[in-house]
Amino acid sequence: MSSVAPIARIALGVPLRRLFDYRAPAGEALTPEDVGRRARVVFGKRVCIGVIAALTDSSEIPGEQLKPIEAVLRDTPPLPPDWFRLAEFCAAYYQTPLGEVMLSTLPTGLRRVDPPKPRAARHAPPPSVAMAAPPLTGEQRQALTHIAAGAPGFRAYLLYGVTGSGKTEIYLRLIERTLAAGRSALLLVPEINLTPQLEARLTARFPDAGLVSLHSDLAEAARTRHWKTALTGRARIVLGTRLAVFTPMPDLGLIVVDEEHDASFKQQDGMRYSARDVAVFRARERNAPIVLGSATPSLESWANAVDPRTPARYTLLTLAQRAVAGARLPAVRCIDTRAEKLCDGFSGALFAAIEQRLARGEQSLVFLNRRGYAPVLACVQCGWISHCPRCAANLVLHLADRRLRCHHCGFEKRVPRACPTCGNQDIQPFGRGTQRLEAVLTERFPEARILRVDRDSARSRRQWEALLSRIHAGEADILVGTQMLAKGHDFPKLTLVGALGADSALFAADWRAPERLFAQLMQVAGRAGRADLPGEVLIQTQFPEHPLYAALVRHDYPAFAAAQLEERRRAGFPPYAYQAMLRAEAPRMAEAIAFLATARAWPGAAAHAGVTLYDPVPMRLSRMANLERAQLLAESPSRRALQAFLGEWNGALESIRTPAKLRWHLEVDPLEL
Ligand code: ADP
Ligand code: ZN
Ligand code: ZN
Repeated sequence: MSSVAPIARIALGVPLRRLFDYRAPAGEALTPEDVGRRARVVFGKRVCIGVIAALTDSSEIPGEQLKPIEAVLRDTPPLPPDWFRLAEFCAAYYQTPLGEVMLSTLPTGLRRVDPPKPRAARHAPPPSVAMAAPPLTGEQRQALTHIAAGAPGFRAYLLYGVTGSGKTEIYLRLIERTLAAGRSALLLVPEINLTPQLEARLTARFPDAGLVSLHSDLAEAARTRHWKTALTGRARIVLGTRLAVFTPMPDLGLIVVDEEHDASFKQQDGMRYSARDVAVFRARERNAPIVLGSATPSLESWANAVDPRTPARYTLLTLAQRAVAGARLPAVRCIDTRAEKLCDGFSGALFAAIEQRLARGEQSLVFLNRRGYAPVLACVQCGWISHCPRCAANLVLHLADRRLRCHHCGFEKRVPRACPTCGNQDIQPFGRGTQRLEAVLTERFPEARILRVDRDSARSRRQWEALLSRIHAGEADILVGTQMLAKGHDFPKLTLVGALGADSALFAADWRAPERLFAQLMQVAGRAGRADLPGEVLIQTQFPEHPLYAALVRHDYPAFAAAQLEERRRAGFPPYAYQAMLRAEAPRMAEAIAFLATARAWPGAAAHAGVTLYDPVPMRLSRMANLERAQLLAESPSRRALQAFLGEWNGALESIRTPAKLRWHLEVDPLEL
């Protein structure tokens, strides 16, 4: 045993669930301060960067076979122990190798073997004077008093505040307190380009806090620099998107997650984590308060706040009024489209409303809801929907082989020729595209300047910004768009929102669709109108009495949430069940299904009571060229039971022999089914 050259156990970004042992670099000793530092090593035939996770005296690998570390990188302070605990939690919870977790959360610049020369920041921050805080509204004061009255330490708050209620001011006051106590704050937002004012506002209020932002639009060098500033504790405020939840911050004393319901907090490849959930874990681990803010909280968070049956209790804080005196929420109305023949999807009332805005020089937005919806068959005559007879989900239409399939449990059958209830032969899938709507509007309003905003017209960030500035400059009378337009933008002349295709979410195969629809329509509604130009939201629907719309008209999120949670509870869906999705893709569907079938037949599953494995199902669309995708759902009413199962199952899956081109992954708490 040698005390001079201990062995380093190093985490590497490779898909193996283990650490790798290396000797100290030639002629150098490793000290405990090196734990948490990056190291350059040779792995197989390539040189790569790893993180020293521990030092040890002994290794299973004989000493002469141990390779030396090429260099210990001491350009940054070591990553702190709480960062390791965060990575370990994620590795266990999301079934991802620790090394992959650690390396994937470091800025690219620090994972490079040959990093470019670091440059100093080009601009010194201008000396600025702190901007004064506005006097609080009564509701804001109450919410803050409530938080201040709580015992110090971890506590999760759900700040439910209608759009414009002044949630940001609450965040700012909490940050102020945190800084005054000598600690730092982490503020997470769904997309940074939606909140350009936020960064300016934070800097104006806290000019000495050394605020840095961290998001994927930053140049690599800037991102690395900002991250290092956070690690050294010089940045007292970090503002960032989902990956920023992993920023090491020595004195972290507050986490805020704004728009906590937003799906952007979910990472959709690699380690499929929820930044919101990781943030809650981190706050608990740091014994710091966390505030989750939203006008339409996720039902998971809402249940945590209001449902006494859920174990993790959040404290609910409510802001029911708009902060600016006189500002009112827009009027929401339903247009009953059963009563009339639509003109290419538009009702007469919506056309008339648009015409009125054109005459007044105001903007209209035609919002088409079509986010990732799988088509479900429906009968307009009697309201029949293709329900799954085996579970609470709806069957999805697969046109290619004319079949209806349940993406939840795997049930399938042939597409019926007529409505099974009333015999109507004209049963149709829901759905309609933005391009078509644009064409219809152009024909109807030839004088109007019409701008279409969707994934096709705003492919790149530059195109998107160009579109936004045209809208702001008032260069459009009518906007046609999808959910891209729903978020965060303030268009001062926008006073009318018409929502089309909303009904498809009521009967979507994805049972989370109503939750998304409600959030989107509330958010879209939040875009319309200001104090002096009141806004109006018109929803075209064949189901004007539907409770979802009734709640929307009253701006009553709590009522909507209560009804949804009751449905979820009855159906045994999250948040009353916990899920993991095993997905496989392969050149042929049969291969993907065969892999999933083997996974399902794992004998060890019998030892895990309370975990249900459903049948493998083909996914509706194979996105990747020439790859067919299928999935299998694992579900349990107990998170702990599911986690215990997944830990063992994942190990078993790794030993299944698969065809060369088959890929699979496991997603815990999937949002998209
Ligand atoms: P939210 O994030 O809840 O939608 P914001 O924080 O953006 O709302 O606030 C909405 C508007 O109200 C902003 O223009 C903000 O400046 C203003 N505001 C917030 N708090 C106050 C206050 N206490 N007094 C006056 N105006 C306020
Ligand atoms: Zn089913
Ligand atoms: Zn029918």
